[in-house]
Amino acid sequence: MFKRQQFLPFSKPSISDKEIDAVSEVLRSGWITTGAQCTAFENALTEYCSAKHSIVLSSATAGMHLLLKALGIGPGDEVITPSLTWVSTVNLIELCGAKPVFADIDRDTLMVTKESVESCLTDRTRLIIPVHYAGAVADLDPLRSLASEHEIALVEDAAHAIGSEYRDERIGQRGTAIFSFHPIKNITTGEGGALVTDNPDLTERIRRLKFHGLGVDAFDRQMQGRSPQAEVLEPGYKYNMTDISAALGLEQLKKLEYFINCRAELASYYQHRLLEIEELSPLKENSYPARHSWHLFIVRLLANRKGLDRNQFMEELKRRNIGTGLHFRAVHEQKFYRENRPELIGTLPNTEWNSERICSLPLFPDMTLDDVKDVIEAIKDCLS
Ligand SMILES: *Cc1c(COP(=O)(O)O)cnc(C)c1O
Repeated sequence: MFKRQQFLPFSKPSISDKEIDAVSEVLRSGWITTGAQCTAFENALTEYCSAKHSIVLSSATAGMHLLLKALGIGPGDEVITPSLTWVSTVNLIELCGAKPVFADIDRDTLMVTKESVESCLTDRTRLIIPVHYAGAVADLDPLRSLASEHEIALVEDAAHAIGSEYRDERIGQRGTAIFSFHPIKNITTGEGGALVTDNPDLTERIRRLKFHGLGVDAFDRQMQGRSPQAEVLEPGYKYNMTDISAALGLEQLKKLEYFINCRAELASYYQHRLLEIEELSPLKENSYPARHSWHLFIVRLLANRKGLDRNQFMEELKRRNIGTGLHFRAVHEQKFYRENRPELIGTLPNTEWNSERICSLPLFPDMTLDDVKDVIEAIKDCLS
């Protein structure tokens, strides 16, 4: 049996002395929560994405929660999103008292299409949340037309897609997108996220909701202190980012282009070598102009001589010291949703087909082409 010497995780953040020094400086400065570092990180994000406004938050999940609240999504409303996504979006829709409606995905890009979303529209639909899967981008133009035609909001789950581009736009440049800085994502702040938007009213509302619903004037925001007299304009949450996280994020953002280039090189080598393994089917690339940020390298395990299912395949790779990930198990197949919405099982064929077969291979900037060779060798060994 082929076994790699050292365990290769499927993801690992790239943290150097630059990040460690930046964080240490904040720790020594006497101001560690939301402050000047957060403002600097917001400005850097706005510039990087050619966006209008950026708000840094404690997670992407927090951003989605604030967004649903800001749009007033609640009982009686429907929100269209894929079921093949991270559970947080669907949980939040459910927690707001609204109904998640799952659009099926394209079998080979894992993303919703205008047609699949259109077939889910009702007069209760309030919001569409496509996911830019794995760092590729959803076909936004037809989705935007559909949303504006029906006067429905559209918000991009861009947790995988900082640095991705759609046609001549960078994600975040137009509309509203939410990024995640969880450690497995393309850049990290430990935990963290950001909402980027071209909508000034939404910006104002989210800034208020993210910190207890306090009215904070421009001077306060600039100084990042809050006057003790600030008062509640509406009940809000506590989803602000800390300066410790923002200092880490600022250094990471400087390296994002380099990270994406490293990922793209590894991905292209995977694509080349996977031609040798017919039991694994990689995803299809976008048919429209786009830049992939290669957050994940996903394959689907097809029928194979060994009769391995996906879970056994992941287990076999682990025995050979190769880590893998599963992004994602369809949400409607998980216990709560299975029990509360049993009628959905069997209605999302492309989602269910992929949910059983997908597997994320190791991909992170500090990996080498030799690491990819080990993965390929281990896969061949499992399947032969
Ligand atoms: C990671 C992720 C999120 C949530 O991000 P957090 O920062 O962990 O809240 C949301 N959607 C998708 C598709 C993700 O992968």
